[in-house]
Amino acid sequence: MKTLIIAEKPSAAEAIAEAIAGSYQKKRGYLEGPDYYITWAVGHLVQLAEPEDYRSSLKRWRFGDLPIIPDFQLRPVKKAEGQLKTIAGLAKKSRGLINACDAAREGELIFRYIVAYLRMEGMPAWRLWTASLTGEAIRAAMADLKPLERYDNLFKSARCRSEGDWLIGINATRAFTTRFGELLSLGRVQTPVLAMICENRRRRDAFVPETYWEVWARFRGEGCDYRGVWLQEKGETRRLNEKVKAEAIAAAVDGRNGEVRQVEEKESRELPPRLYDLTTLQRECNRLFGFSASKTLKIAQELYDSKFITYPRTNSRFVDKHGLALLRRVVSSLAGHPVYGPFVAKGNPQLVHERNRNICRPEAVEDHHALLPTTLVPSGLVGDKLKVYDRIVRRVLAHYYLPARYRERVVLTGVPFESTTGKATVLPADASAKATAVPDSAHIKEAGVPGGAGVYLFRSAEKAIIDPGWKVVDGGWTPPKEQERLPERTGLAVFCAGAEVMEKQTEPPKAYTEGSLLAAMETAGKQLDDEELREIMKDAGLGTPATRAATIERLKEVGYIELQGKQIEPTPKGMALVSLVEKSEIPILLSAEMTGRWEKFLNEIARGNAQPLEFNRRVSDLAVHLVKQLEAAEKSWYDKSACARRFGICPRCGGAIVENRKAYGCANWKDENCPVTIWKTFKGKRITEKTALALLEKGRSPRLRFYTKEKKPYPAVIVFDAQTGMMNLEFSSATTKSTKSTRSTRSKKSTASVESIGAAETNGSTKTVKTPKPSKKAKAAEAAEAAEAANNAVTVEKRRRRSAKKDGASGDDLKSAL
Ligand SMILES: [Zn+2]
Repeated sequence: MKTLIIAEKPSAAEAIAEAIAGSYQKKRGYLEGPDYYITWAVGHLVQLAEPEDYRSSLKRWRFGDLPIIPDFQLRPVKKAEGQLKTIAGLAKKSRGLINACDAAREGELIFRYIVAYLRMEGMPAWRLWTASLTGEAIRAAMADLKPLERYDNLFKSARCRSEGDWLIGINATRAFTTRFGELLSLGRVQTPVLAMICENRRRRDAFVPETYWEVWARFRGEGCDYRGVWLQEKGETRRLNEKVKAEAIAAAVDGRNGEVRQVEEKESRELPPRLYDLTTLQRECNRLFGFSASKTLKIAQELYDSKFITYPRTNSRFVDKHGLALLRRVVSSLAGHPVYGPFVAKGNPQLVHERNRNICRPEAVEDHHALLPTTLVPSGLVGDKLKVYDRIVRRVLAHYYLPARYRERVVLTGVPFESTTGKATVLPADASAKATAVPDSAHIKEAGVPGGAGVYLFRSAEKAIIDPGWKVVDGGWTPPKEQERLPERTGLAVFCAGAEVMEKQTEPPKAYTEGSLLAAMETAGKQLDDEELREIMKDAGLGTPATRAATIERLKEVGYIELQGKQIEPTPKGMALVSLVEKSEIPILLSAEMTGRWEKFLNEIARGNAQPLEFNRRVSDLAVHLVKQLEAAEKSWYDKSACARRFGICPRCGGAIVENRKAYGCANWKDENCPVTIWKTFKGKRITEKTALALLEKGRSPRLRFYTKEKKPYPAVIVFDAQTGMMNLEFSSATTKSTKSTRSTRSKKSTASVESIGAAETNGSTKTVKTPKPSKKAKAAEAAEAAEAANNAVTVEKRRRRSAKKDGASGDDLKSAL
């Protein structure tokens, strides 16, 4: 009898078949080798049943039915019945099962749910646990199959996660939605993350910038030329709250002599950054390339499926002994690579060893080691995939290089003064005389205040690279530009060649990017710059590396957050939801710290150190609690109209464009009579969001295809007049022939054709038919328009070309015409 292997997806099943089966046959829904059937899930095939599966009346959402706390049952995911049947059939012919789903919490759950649903618990079962899909790795894992029971705790943890999310998601979403009359989605992890984003926004909104002033002076002396900033006392602050004071200091030092009072020099080292886990990779790809977290994950997953990198959803930034051996093999396989080969050649293998705590920490490798390339080196990667792969490779190679070394120099320059009107004191430059010339510390203390006598101190600092070390591989290191020349010894006489007052403002807190949000999720909202502290917090973050991208995407999908450039901003609806949870006094739904502790609990269950039942009890308690808290809630707490999703900005009055069932319209139509409306259906054509946005932003749509009553297609452009708020059709019938002529005219750019276009313009006419919204009448007119359009085809097309040229907007128009 054969053994049945279940992989997480078809591509993984194929990789396994290629690695172990020698020859195999492709069958419907599975692969067959001499000793194995190899089949697959497609993500989850089985899921927790929905409320209405337990009781059909629960299909309707009613507050009175809450909380819903079922004895959990399983049901197939939509369209998964066929594959489940295949698996059940194969299992009957097999002597045992091998779980070859992804080596992680979710992979364990996918397999166990299938087994439970198909009642295959009685069969002998093993676990194939591999970090990558290369043949080498799969064969090693097959030779070292683990008994399935070894992963029972991981499964328990996965089930707790799944059921916990169900209980909170279903009950909170139904409770809030029925209470406030609007679809409000909540989730165990999703809502605390939203709360963090809203909190950040509130801090920014409450921020009042303060103006302050700094005094910058330029000093010149023997062999030096540099700038310094005035310091109050011993470097406590450089800020002055009064401009007059700043100006007085600048005036007092400008043109005076001074002396270098202190030169502190130290060397610093910067180790290569640790290897990537998923979150760090996502953060860096966001910072460097602007990728969203989900985009980076998607690319990493594709690289993994192509066997080029190890399992991407990892939480570790280290390797253990085995990982280290793999890392070494990977680096030797890169030796012949045109780009990475030279870096391998120059690297020092002696630096990569088991005692190097910057790379090797067995205790920090639980399910997976850090992200590594595999020994399979791709040759044809391009674009975004190459960018991500390149990051991972360079990060590994960096560890074959020495730390980067810097020389940091901090210089204090003193400029003595007697009074604001006094003359300069020329200090003797030689060190022996210095002691008498430098005022005592009491004077320095007073130096912040103009007048009297003392010394103004100026601070200058530079960090010069001595040896870029690993940065030549991974740091984006460029040789420094010409730097200032700071003095090298104390006592040197200098001259203040100018002093200026600079007005500055305190900076508001920064908005989250996807990168900084991931960092905040990892540490449950705590701002930690220290790498070691981050490492400790990892166990108690919000969600897991595998799920964080999906959480952010979910918040976008349900309309709680939006991206403005790279910045994440909460929408009015997102802000309103957080206020509602606050008002309902359910702080636990907003607490990052609490959610982080739950995550830790799940990790402890996976390690066998905590009880699943305890977790279940706490989650059920919360479900009961939140429903109870909402009993007293009032519908009026939620201002529906203020929370409508802002679709765009009104080009006429600057108001918000909001979406309703039939149109995108200006929110000011009632108060200010603003007529701006983009109908969702226009002349029988569905207007996509993209088209609607183009109309709002540019006043015209791309070229679209409309149909006459006789189903005859004709192209046209919708133009939108923001002043009247009307959509009109500007159409021309571009036949294949005339399109082609457009192309040749453009490519030749001959004067003759330009002239002929110019001539045509005087005769040409454009039909625009004003239609505020689709109606029967409009549809009748449509056919007539189309007929007319056909007649005018040539002239109109010419006119279009001309106007496209004139507008300079030709690129897009032309592209859509071709
Ligand atoms: Zn408006």
